[in-house]
Amino acid sequence: MKREEVTAFRREGILFVISAPSGTGKSTLCENLRRTPDFIFSISCTTRRPRPGEVNGEDYLFLDERQFSAKVTAGEFLEYAKVHGCWYGTLRQTAIEALSEGTDVLLDIDIQGANNIRNQEDPRLKAALVDVFIMPPTFAELERRLRKRGTENEKEIERRLERGREEMKAWKEFKYTILSGSMEEDLTKFRAIMRAERYLSRRLTLHEE
Ligand code: 5GP
Repeated sequence: MKREEVTAFRREGILFVISAPSGTGKSTLCENLRRTPDFIFSISCTTRRPRPGEVNGEDYLFLDERQFSAKVTAGEFLEYAKVHGCWYGTLRQTAIEALSEGTDVLLDIDIQGANNIRNQEDPRLKAALVDVFIMPPTFAELERRLRKRGTENEKEIERRLERGREEMKAWKEFKYTILSGSMEEDLTKFRAIMRAERYLSRRLTLHEE
């Protein structure tokens, strides 16, 4: 009797990049996504001081400037950028290894970081990249959300708003844009993107056993 043929697809991991102006609600969105086993969340390095409740190695790897620049020199970052006066960087090895094992990776990075990744030459990275912009519904709503979270002082809020107005113009550079609504709506929209990207034929390799 003929053995039943089993068709199986394999694929490389997808590099999901989420960016948004500060205060849009991107971090909460990413926290919700982190609770699902869909991908690994890349933990960035930063020279920013930990906020109350933040855990080293869980929220960020908190480094001083000297440690950070040693990693820059050693080429350990896939991308890095100065954001609100501190350095932030995505570690290359963790992300690349996961992708080549077929695990999806989620990056919560700023708009410069998304640009840096988009402009890299590596064709595998280009093929893996799915960049998503979260657009605040209005500038007034961005201000309301930023004030509501209450983590910055007035001067810092003003600075982030000024920067946010500029950053809102970057949406066209991204493959997808989600107009931010409630957290549930944003999650649903992001998951729709995630599912569709996973079924792209060009990502799949056929394995017949
Ligand atoms: P926060 O200090 O509020 O956690 O993050 C400030 C900003 O830095 C956010 O927009 C966040 O997405 C961004 N960020 C976090 N990690 C990285 C990173 O590794 N690279 C870049 N370019 N931005 C990052």
